[in-house]
Amino acid sequence: MAYAYDDQNIFAKILRGEVPNDTVLETDHSLAFRDIQPQAPTHVLVIPKGPYVCYDHFAQEASDAELLDYTRAVGEVCRMEGVAEGGFRMIANAGRDGVQEVPHLHVHILAGRNLGRMLQPA
Ligand code: AMP
Repeated sequence: MAYAYDDQNIFAKILRGEVPNDTVLETDHSLAFRDIQPQAPTHVLVIPKGPYVCYDHFAQEASDAELLDYTRAVGEVCRMEGVAEGGFRMIANAGRDGVQEVPHLHVHILAGRNLGRMLQPA
């Protein structure tokens, strides 16, 4: 599937410096910042700086350098936030059924309390 990136999404505006953010980590190809509506004591979003709609888009089109940087950035945030030992959950919503609200790839890192089962039965 071909993806069309909307550069007016809120995370694109954050990357351009048009909207403020609470940065946790910035690397060459990635940015991590706190979710504006945290759902756990730790709730950090990690995004690639490149224009990728979702994980599938990123996995198809990102360079090796971007892929490596992003993967490492997610792990580094977990260590920086002190959640690697106690545990955490990573969520990357995509598309309609994934109920993705912001069409720029982001991994949610959630931690700091027991997060319960992954999904409620439908
Ligand atoms: P998703 O449903 O996976 O697309 O999640 C989008 C997330 O972005 C939500 O958890 C929002 O609270 C978060 N969010 C939206 N706008 C901002 C913002 N300006 N700064 C930080 N987080 C945001």
